[in-house]
Amino acid sequence: MTTTTTTGAENDVREVIIIGSGPAGYTAALYTARAQLKPLLFGSSVFVGGSLTTTTEVENFPGFPTGIDGPDLMDNMRAQAERFGAEMIDDDIVAVDLAGDIKLLTDSAGTVHRAKAVIIATGSGYRKLGLPKEDELSGRGVSWCATCDGFFFRDRDIVVVGGGDTAMEEATFLTRFARSVTVVHRRSTLRASKTMQNRAFADDKISFAFDSEVAEIKETDGMLSGVVLRDVLTGGTRELDATGLFIAIGHDPRTELFADQLELDDEGYLKTRSPSTRTSLPGVFGAGDVVDHIYRQAITAAGSGCAAALDAERYLAALR
Ligand code: FAD
Repeated sequence: MTTTTTTGAENDVREVIIIGSGPAGYTAALYTARAQLKPLLFGSSVFVGGSLTTTTEVENFPGFPTGIDGPDLMDNMRAQAERFGAEMIDDDIVAVDLAGDIKLLTDSAGTVHRAKAVIIATGSGYRKLGLPKEDELSGRGVSWCATCDGFFFRDRDIVVVGGGDTAMEEATFLTRFARSVTVVHRRSTLRASKTMQNRAFADDKISFAFDSEVAEIKETDGMLSGVVLRDVLTGGTRELDATGLFIAIGHDPRTELFADQLELDDEGYLKTRSPSTRTSLPGVFGAGDVVDHIYRQAITAAGSGCAAALDAERYLAALR
């Protein structure tokens, strides 16, 4: 849908425009810039650098033997792409028309930008509990990713919220580090597959608080110190000491803009023609967490950003 107030020059058609400034978008910018495609990247007005800007230590991105601060890693990625001529605009794309040979993208000022190819790397957001202190204690005991942060929770008592496959996977994975893991689930039965459930039930370190929800997050000296659980049937509450809270209640891929133009899967993720990054429309490519509901790591997002850039490059070469 295009709702525009002003337009850029009709003949100013870019080779490629990238939407999203996480590892996928910046990597796509780096590769397309080095391929002389003069990419333009829109990286959001409020959330430049993507999900990693909300964390402190990143220990699993290759090339940084002592780890790197999330925002520093993203600044480095941006600077590396800019060094080769990638142009960055810290603004949102608010409307798109992707069907034609020339794709139209409208920014928040109403200016229409034109490109022959578009790479969508808008990421996905972790669903939150919506409780006070949840954001404030992110990286201080509250986490949404066991693969990312589990290592920091050795010998800790951890609470995992959720009842699906991801929650069971996170809980089981966390027992490698934790002293105890309590799975908190609002219902009396889990949604996870039988295999995942059985693996969790068989694990001595995991216990379950069914028919329960986290009602409050407790903090001591700026760190998570526990949660208050509420029984959803009786309304009764109890306090549980914990220094880790992993929230595994799902993700929301940022695909609203594209929903009426591109094929999405049942969960709203952008569908690509695997193993390529091609979407259901020619000249439109998808990369990173907006496509991926399995791995969701910075390195996999960066890898698919590279793939999207190479796919876009080949698509553009075939047009010449
Ligand atoms: P994102 O990083 O989410 O970036 C997408 C960007 O696109 C955002 O800036 C968004 O605002 C922007 N955008 C969306 N829509 C628009 C639009 N319409 N116009 C313009 N811009 C738009 N992974 C690891 O590998 N190691 C870790 O240690 C690790 N720790 C993490 C800690 C936290 C707290 C979180 C939240 C995630 C962590 N992850 C970690 C996961 C990792 O951050 C993601 O897998 C990765 O950032 C996904 O990259 P992406 O480029 O697909 O999307």
